[in-house]
This record gives sequence, structure tokens and C-alpha cells, in this order.
Amino acid sequence: MKLYYDLHMHSCLSPCGSEDMTPANLAAMCALAGLDVVALTDHNTCGNCASFCRAAEERGLLALAGMELCTSEEVHTVCLFPTPDQAERFGEYVYARLSPGENDPAVFGPQVYMDQGDGILGEEPRMLAGTTLIPLAEVPGLAEAYGGFAWPAHIDRPSFSLLGVLGVWDPELRFPLAELSHSCPPEFIRRRDLAGLRFITSSDAHYLDQVYTAEHVMELPERSPEAVLNWLRNGK
Ligand SMILES: [Zn+2]
Ligand SMILES: [Zn+2]
Repeated sequence: MKLYYDLHMHSCLSPCGSEDMTPANLAAMCALAGLDVVALTDHNTCGNCASFCRAAEERGLLALAGMELCTSEEVHTVCLFPTPDQAERFGEYVYARLSPGENDPAVFGPQVYMDQGDGILGEEPRMLAGTTLIPLAEVPGLAEAYGGFAWPAHIDRPSFSLLGVLGVWDPELRFPLAELSHSCPPEFIRRRDLAGLRFITSSDAHYLDQVYTAEHVMELPERSPEAVLNWLRNGK
């Protein structure tokens, strides 16, 4: 079956995410946009994933729990997990490896935990959008250890991306897939170091109006989180 996806979106738990990006608002916008498969991927946390997944499932969407993990080299990677439980356990591992520092809500914006009905559960005091102590080379195996899958985010952007930091694609990192940003020029993927890679495009939405309308498609044998993860791993 063909399903429209957007697998990289932020909620109000990301300091740079709009306060309107509540789990329920985001789920409603995804449904309105005509998406079928969606994922919440806040910076270095899975804290709003369970709420978002419940809100999205109520709207008939297939929702996955995820994170945009910032490695010690300042490379953003998207990590997805089959269940919010597994994502939260991964989140605990990452939380213990955040770089030191508190969030200043007046400068960076608040980091708000919410339930599926947009009730406020609390605010995160630690700065979530910085680097972690986790090196890029550990990310694929680490995501796998929690039942998930990871890939480098927005590799065509100059900052916080694998190519921006390393300069060239490193096949020894064993990522079979990479994310391109929406504004990626078509000739970019003809770079010789990217030969053989598969690509996906997600919105990286931080505001409600940045959520994609249904455009990017995955072909799955069944409608389940495992089928999404297998499609990401193998292309089928
Ligand atoms: Zn990013
Ligand atoms: Zn992002």
C-alpha cells in the first residue's frame, strides 16, 4: 500500500519549536495535510512522543516515536522506534549524555511536556537542543539496540549535518539512507560520494504551517511501525 509520510517534526518540547506545536495540534495538522505515517522527533528527547502518538492514532494516523539526536560532532540524526516505550528508554539513555547546560526559556523558548489533550505536564529545565556526548559512529548500533533505526538528517544543509561537518559521505558509518531537506537542489544527489544511497524527504517542521501536505510516499506491505522501519532499513 502507498502511504504519505512525514517522519521529522518537532513539538513544543523543542526549544525552537513553536508553542502551537502541541501534540494534539500537530496530530490534527498531520491529518489535515493528508498524511498517513508521521513521527515526532524533538531534539534529544522523546518526552512528548507517547502523547503525540495517542493523539495521532485517534485521528487514524500511523504514528511513530522518534528523536532528532545531535551527536558529539554536531551532526543531526533522526532515530525512530517501534513503540513510545522503546523511544522513552532510548530517551533516558540520551538524557544522561546531554551536554551540560540549562535552557533559558526567554532566549531559546520553553520546552514543554504535554499530554495528548494539550494539558501541560511540566517544563524541561535542561537545554535539549545542544550536542550530546554520543559520537555519530555509535548512532546506528544504538538505535538498533532499542529496536529502532537512525539516519542522518538534512544532509544538504551546511550546518548540523553529516556532510556539513565531515565534508564527504563516510560509507563506514553504514547508513543506507539519508534525509534531504525540502529545498535540496536536484543535482545534489548526483554527488559521487552519495552513489547507492537511498533518500527520503521530511518537513523538519517547527511550526504548524511547515507540516507537509501529502507529497512523499512509502510503499509498505502492511500498515505497522515495523513495516515503516523495514522500509527505511531496506527500501521495501
Ligand atoms: Zn536538524
Ligand atoms: Zn529537526
